[in-house]
Amino acid sequence: MRVRVYNTLTRQKEDFKTVAEGRVGMYVCGPTVYKPSHVGHMVGPVIFDTIKRFLSFLGYQVTLVVNITDVDDKLIVESAKRGFSVTQLAETITADYLTNLRLLRVDGIDHFPRATAHIREIIDMIQGLIAKGFAYPSGGDVYFDVTRDEDYGKLCNRDPEQLEAGARIEVSGLKRNPGDFALWKRAKPGEPQWESPWGPGRPGWHIECSAMSMKLLGPSFDIHGGGLDLQFPHHENELAQSESFSQLPFARFWLHNGLMKTGDKKMSKSEGNEIVVTELLKKHHPETLRYLLLSSHYRSPIEYSEDRLLELRRSLESFYRFFDRFKRITGLDYYSLPVTAKQSEPVQGGEGLMGKIAPLRQSFLEFMADDFNTGGALGILHEMLPILNRFADQAGLESAGPAARAREEFHQGVLCLRELFSLMGLFLEPISTPAAASDQTLDGVVRLLIDLRADARKNKNFALADQIRKRLTELNITLEDRQGETTWRQG
Ligand SMILES: [Zn+2]
Repeated sequence: MRVRVYNTLTRQKEDFKTVAEGRVGMYVCGPTVYKPSHVGHMVGPVIFDTIKRFLSFLGYQVTLVVNITDVDDKLIVESAKRGFSVTQLAETITADYLTNLRLLRVDGIDHFPRATAHIREIIDMIQGLIAKGFAYPSGGDVYFDVTRDEDYGKLCNRDPEQLEAGARIEVSGLKRNPGDFALWKRAKPGEPQWESPWGPGRPGWHIECSAMSMKLLGPSFDIHGGGLDLQFPHHENELAQSESFSQLPFARFWLHNGLMKTGDKKMSKSEGNEIVVTELLKKHHPETLRYLLLSSHYRSPIEYSEDRLLELRRSLESFYRFFDRFKRITGLDYYSLPVTAKQSEPVQGGEGLMGKIAPLRQSFLEFMADDFNTGGALGILHEMLPILNRFADQAGLESAGPAARAREEFHQGVLCLRELFSLMGLFLEPISTPAAASDQTLDGVVRLLIDLRADARKNKNFALADQIRKRLTELNITLEDRQGETTWRQG
């Protein structure tokens, strides 16, 4: 299947061609671990995990690396504030990050290299850059000389003067040029430090990613990802250092994901509107958050609001209800259905249900192959659902004795749905936690509300009935109306 990818480096969509046949190396810039993950930290991992799922499905062998920056100015300041050591703070925050990734079913990351575990590689690379004339030691620091790199600025498509004007230029008499950036920083008293040929110090941020990507993926690899806000200076500098060092092309495709926004504002620490993931997950299931992050194209900003999450939650519920229906019809658990890991033979359409499902499957794959348009692909799955439901209605699958053939067709259709949703990392396992039998009080209270809602509807007080349902949804309790009976579940 022909895959097209928008490449920030060339500012156009290109055919996806890998450095090594059949293999894909992907590097995504991860967090600086000084504060608990906020929702924005989950965007890149969820998107690139989904891209990996799709490329693996196409048959590529994909290695995905996400780094952890565990030494940095922000960490030093925050750990001093909290009375922790930098290591303690980094470990606590890394554990929080990894837990959130697990909950969001970001299963595909192969390596989480930490900067502090790669000091040797970083020093070696800086030495190489000095030896080749691209960097110079100065007062215990080492700087990269941007004027020595002829194509500096090519990622952002700006010339160095413009970049300098846009950069936060550190006031330092140690640099040759205002745009030069630190590869190594001389230690200040009390800061974490390592011995180096230039005296005790610590690495700059940009060089970590160059050294770790090179170690794990080689000097030339396929996809470099990260948030749009990292394009400059971080990625520009990573690119400059890596290519100056290796004299080889660094990442072939640069993919930049859009940032979270709420209302008209970017979600950021400076705006004070960041949402901490653990707080959000107290109210919403991780599956709803994953779904939100995939519901638009990865290059667009992601609109965040509480209403949007509730709306998406209702979309997900239509699938949860469908999986219950599937079980009633076939006796099979949707979550136990096999998932095809690789692209199989094209699904045969023909007459009947599969005649409708197969072209939609093809459209789904085409959306994904067109610059990983997850939003478009999810839209297709929403088209599949009513087709499957209608088929079950028309074939009378829930009544006694429907034709075995119709039931088999239905099964095939749902297998297809399962296959495609697994590429999104959605509905991988059941989320409902049925009320424990012992929790009779909660059950009693919810049943009371279900009865009150039924009375309200009988009296045509639909506003009240909707209110009861909405308030329960906010408490993570889902009501399901089916054949004159209402049941409930958590999740
Ligand atoms: Zn990076």
